[in-house]
Amino acid sequence: MNVLAYTYVNKGDLRLLDKPKPMLQAPTDAIVRVTLGSICTSDLHIKHGLVPRAVPGITLGHEMVGVVEQVGQAVTKVRPGDRVTVNVETFCGECFFCKHGWVNNCTDPDGGWALGCRIDGGQAEFVRVPRADQGLNKIPDAVSDEQALLVGDVLATGFWAAKISEIKQEDSVLIIGAGPTGICTLQCVRLYGPRTILVCDKDEARLAFVREHYPEVIAVRPEQVQRAVKTHCPNGGADAVLEVAGTEDTFRMAWQLARPNAIVTVVALYDGPQVLPLPDMYGKNLTFKTGGVDGCNCDETLALIARGKLDTRALITHRYPLSRIEEAYRLFENRKDGVIKVAICPDA
Ligand SMILES: [Zn+2]
Ligand SMILES: [Zn+2]
Repeated sequence: MNVLAYTYVNKGDLRLLDKPKPMLQAPTDAIVRVTLGSICTSDLHIKHGLVPRAVPGITLGHEMVGVVEQVGQAVTKVRPGDRVTVNVETFCGECFFCKHGWVNNCTDPDGGWALGCRIDGGQAEFVRVPRADQGLNKIPDAVSDEQALLVGDVLATGFWAAKISEIKQEDSVLIIGAGPTGICTLQCVRLYGPRTILVCDKDEARLAFVREHYPEVIAVRPEQVQRAVKTHCPNGGADAVLEVAGTEDTFRMAWQLARPNAIVTVVALYDGPQVLPLPDMYGKNLTFKTGGVDGCNCDETLALIARGKLDTRALITHRYPLSRIEEAYRLFENRKDGVIKVAICPDA
């Protein structure tokens, strides 16, 4: 049986192809029928050849929800018929790194970001999920597919970034970047109840989105951010800076706007190396923490969604059937029509 799968053929060349339906390959695998997928900025990085480990020929997509269709005999946590989120990361749960919660560095051959990068992903009708007991999380009945869509990737990233930034209630927190991951980060930072949150982005539409949905947040453009930090952060800079933008100036902005002894969490995936000017920052005594996400808190984020503490539905601005995914990519890549996230649903 053949199924539709959006495929990274080669640099700059993505195509919707007919491919054999994924099958179980190991007893720890599950096959999931994808009920909703999405497009991530990382997919565009693959398209443009910026992810060297991406394997030509793989099916793209690493952010999806679905229904378990089939499980290998070693899978115990999920059963056929369960509604699940699929984790962007594959991890074994047993190695040194997994035991510390550092699942991004799992030593399993498929460990880390494999789905839609090194093995076939979920911009397709079906996806094979290795290590399914770790890679799948059951969606509570009260949570819809759209509510759960971002759990496995951008919301996991936001949750992880907020968690490692050690945010306290008296803190002023600066988030650089108000794209999908930036806004997920913002939602998760709000869980810690810091005194002040500032968000910086150069895109006026994104700032307007922040002001509309989170009126207590101070949303500013890059040319305003220095003054805003001066006004709202009493100790000469932000207590925590989360850099989620990854553009040319934002790494410099992150460390410059941090107060001495702050934590600077770098979530962004840059196109190139960044300069760490140690002589200039000498004496500032910063702590840097860097990505990628250790995405092993999905049960917790799903519970927070069920309780109304996290809600990413407003980020899904467009919906396309899989057969029209090329249009969806064009829209997403060119940032047309106020797009934030695109949901890809199966064809009727
Ligand atoms: Zn992603
Ligand atoms: Zn592991």
